[in-house]
Amino acid sequence: MTSTATSKQYDSVDHWIAGKGVAPRSAKYFPVNNPLDDAVIANAAAGNIDDINSAIETAHEAFQTFRNTLPKEREKILCKAAELLERDRQEFVDILVDEIGSPIKKAGFEVEKGLAFLRAAAGMTRQVTGKTIPSDAPGKFSMSIRSPIGVVAAITPFNVPLIKGTRLSCNPIALGNTVVMMPSEEAPILTNRLARLYSEAGLPDGVFNVVSGNGYEIGDALTTHPHVKMVTFTGSCRVGQHIRELCGKHNKRMTLELGGKSPLVVMADAKLEAAVPGAIQSIFMYQGQVCMGASRVYVHEDVFDEFVKRFAGAASGLKMGDLRDPNTMIGPIISERQRERVRSHIEDARAKGATIVTGGAWDGNRCQPTVLTDVTPEMTVYAEETFGPVVSVYPIRSLDEAIERSNDSEFGLSAAIYTQNIDSAMRYVMEVESGMVHVNGSSLHDEPHVPFGGTKESGFGREGTEEDIEAMTEWKWVTIQL
Ligand code: NAD
Repeated sequence: MTSTATSKQYDSVDHWIAGKGVAPRSAKYFPVNNPLDDAVIANAAAGNIDDINSAIETAHEAFQTFRNTLPKEREKILCKAAELLERDRQEFVDILVDEIGSPIKKAGFEVEKGLAFLRAAAGMTRQVTGKTIPSDAPGKFSMSIRSPIGVVAAITPFNVPLIKGTRLSCNPIALGNTVVMMPSEEAPILTNRLARLYSEAGLPDGVFNVVSGNGYEIGDALTTHPHVKMVTFTGSCRVGQHIRELCGKHNKRMTLELGGKSPLVVMADAKLEAAVPGAIQSIFMYQGQVCMGASRVYVHEDVFDEFVKRFAGAASGLKMGDLRDPNTMIGPIISERQRERVRSHIEDARAKGATIVTGGAWDGNRCQPTVLTDVTPEMTVYAEETFGPVVSVYPIRSLDEAIERSNDSEFGLSAAIYTQNIDSAMRYVMEVESGMVHVNGSSLHDEPHVPFGGTKESGFGREGTEEDIEAMTEWKWVTIQL
């Protein structure tokens, strides 16, 4: 059932530069839609290259002072930001529901993660340590120290604007860097609200700046500007590939968190009472618009029929109700472009002979949870990321086949295996080509202090407190002749 709640209206969103809202130089705004019914809920500043340059100049200037702030000063700001997010939790949840169609449970999850990232970043401020190094030269004292790098360009996707909005800003800030963030065109309201939160927390003007607009038009100006020292990007492989080339050419550091087609394996000895809800959570959270979504499920032939029966039963029972009902799991697909992608994957599979065990139909902008079997390599859904509530289930005969099929993909973001056999679990862990792998747990998992990210086409580098200290500071080797 489609929600009958009417869309709340939001104030129009300007850029956030030097600690205040700034109108776009072009004077142009673009509409922000509630994906549930495509109603316009706000207008957001359509940035141009001058806006980007102004934000970068501002961040560069702010860096000259901010780089010298003390750890305890940055720690205090980040702790305060977490306190304010806790205080304003409901407002952030409302934006996540209205702006990107998050069911309230997923919106609450984003707030929890945002809090965790801010608090962990506060701790990072005191961990920017160097080394003393033994020297071959007599009387020479040798050491290495770290400095912040400067302006970090942070680019976020539509699906987790608070998780990535916090993570891609609080870690660089913790280290004394400054940030220019370009949020997804689908999520400018949330990111602007985050900027105001940082400001209230005491972050000096110019340290966190936001320019909204069409990434296709203004993204290159951001990623190639000489003052930008690093690009931290989360989004599609297509845009990630383009950014990788630009960063190579312009000598920028980068972290890329890209798409996925994650496998989830169910062996014959798996506890189905855990594997079925684990697989449901892994693909249907936020209606499948999650990078770590397990859209390929490989099930041992001995338990295949039973698994498919239980999995499809659970999928068809997922609630498509009011997004503010905590039991609702399935909300709308973000945009017409994405809906067309999901639709075409399902129709292509149907036309080429896949069995639609459950789902395949739409209710307004929501796609029913869709479970496919008999999927073959000729079908688009076999290899491409759908980014919707669509999952293919395949029978396998052995662990060898599970590993081979899991690795038969250009992606390598997350993976999961359900088994009671420690040898099978560990062999899978060691041999699966994936940046992250979970045993007897969902493919969706994230914490601030883990090396988060993917291999193969799913990314470059890792996010995490330790990893970001390495990526977002510059080493300097120092000697003192005594
Ligand atoms: P997208 O690539 O379409 O857009 C992401 C961002 O890139 C947006 O802010 C957009 O404005 C910007 N952009 C577009 N062209 C650009 C350019 N030339 N230069 C710089 N920036 C540009 O992705 P999306 O549809 O918003 O998000 C979905 C994708 O993100 C999926 O593929 C998903 O798997 C991936 N994702 C990955 C992770 C992860 O951690 N690995 C997390 C969330 C989403």
